[in-house]
Amino acid sequence: MPKIIELSEALSNQIAAGEVIERPASVVKELVENSIDAGANQIDVRVVDAGISRITVTDNGSGIDAADVPIAFKRHATSKIATVRDLFAIHSLGFRGEALASIASVADVTMETATADGQGTSARLTGGQMINQHSLPLRRGTMIDVANLFYNTPARLKYVRSQTTEMSHIADIMSRLALGHPDIAFTLRNGDKLAIKTAGNGDLQQAIAAIYGVGTARDMLAFAGDNDDFGVNGYVSLPDNTRSARNYLTLLINGRYFRNNQLVKGIIAGYGSKLMVGRYPIAVVNIQLDPQLVDVNVHPTKQEVRISKENVLSDLITDSIRQQLSEQNLIPDALHNL
Ligand code: ADP
Ligand code: MG
Repeated sequence: MPKIIELSEALSNQIAAGEVIERPASVVKELVENSIDAGANQIDVRVVDAGISRITVTDNGSGIDAADVPIAFKRHATSKIATVRDLFAIHSLGFRGEALASIASVADVTMETATADGQGTSARLTGGQMINQHSLPLRRGTMIDVANLFYNTPARLKYVRSQTTEMSHIADIMSRLALGHPDIAFTLRNGDKLAIKTAGNGDLQQAIAAIYGVGTARDMLAFAGDNDDFGVNGYVSLPDNTRSARNYLTLLINGRYFRNNQLVKGIIAGYGSKLMVGRYPIAVVNIQLDPQLVDVNVHPTKQEVRISKENVLSDLITDSIRQQLSEQNLIPDALHNL
């Protein structure tokens, strides 16, 4: 029998990174989610070479205490949950304490962070190892710079697609995060070129305008509904403004972007026969529910969730959208009974 050994921390972090950090867009997602959890209302992302050379995320959130900085890069180290009970009532986007450890294990990372104006700390890590930490004057907030992604995992680097493809994944996840948080001002820059800029004034329709264009946003309808378990609200496009792919449907559960086929069907059902087969509307659907009714700990990237009473939720979405469209006299009354 070969001898069983415990893997080193560096190796187990790299294994975790294999799940969480699939491509540059995963780094952007994890860092921006951390900024959101830190209460930032301004989050700026800059990437170079579609994130392969460099990803820099700057926020004006809570910052991290100097003493906590080395801990933040440890695996399963988090400030967001402490007990098993917390795990079943997640209020933050993060909770697994994996992202920073994973990212740092496959890149060169610099962090500058301050919990109050003037009292900052700077840390540099390579291959997951802290090589330098010192204090410096800084404004409150956090900047994380991730360079040379996958430099030590050649197989993963090979899997990275063209810059155009990787950039579109980054823009996609940034769009979802921005649509889920209209109260936060986001920018995404590709080199010096501004790709996304949202106002952060809390107005979802304005966030939609920033992402999909003013014309599209202006023609969308607001909808809302609720029952004992769920609240839903958002914007949907008119049946004549559709797309051939479902990429323009954004589902958010307590501010977290996720994917779910049944709820997509629920949105489409709201249009009755007004939608041509194979066409999808543009929609942003916010779902509010008691965090205890959703299990977000299904997949490392948390883009799939398990919702109890999913059918009830799907019907609520359908009914709320159908009602709004019918008020616009877009759907003949006869369809209501379908
Ligand atoms: P998680 O988000 O699951 O807690 P991470 O590895 O992403 O795990 O982050 C570890 C910890 O580092 C977080 O719990 C948080 O305390 C801190 N942290 C990370 N990014 C930021 C940030 N931008 N601002 C403030 N704190 C941060
Ligand atoms: Mg996180």
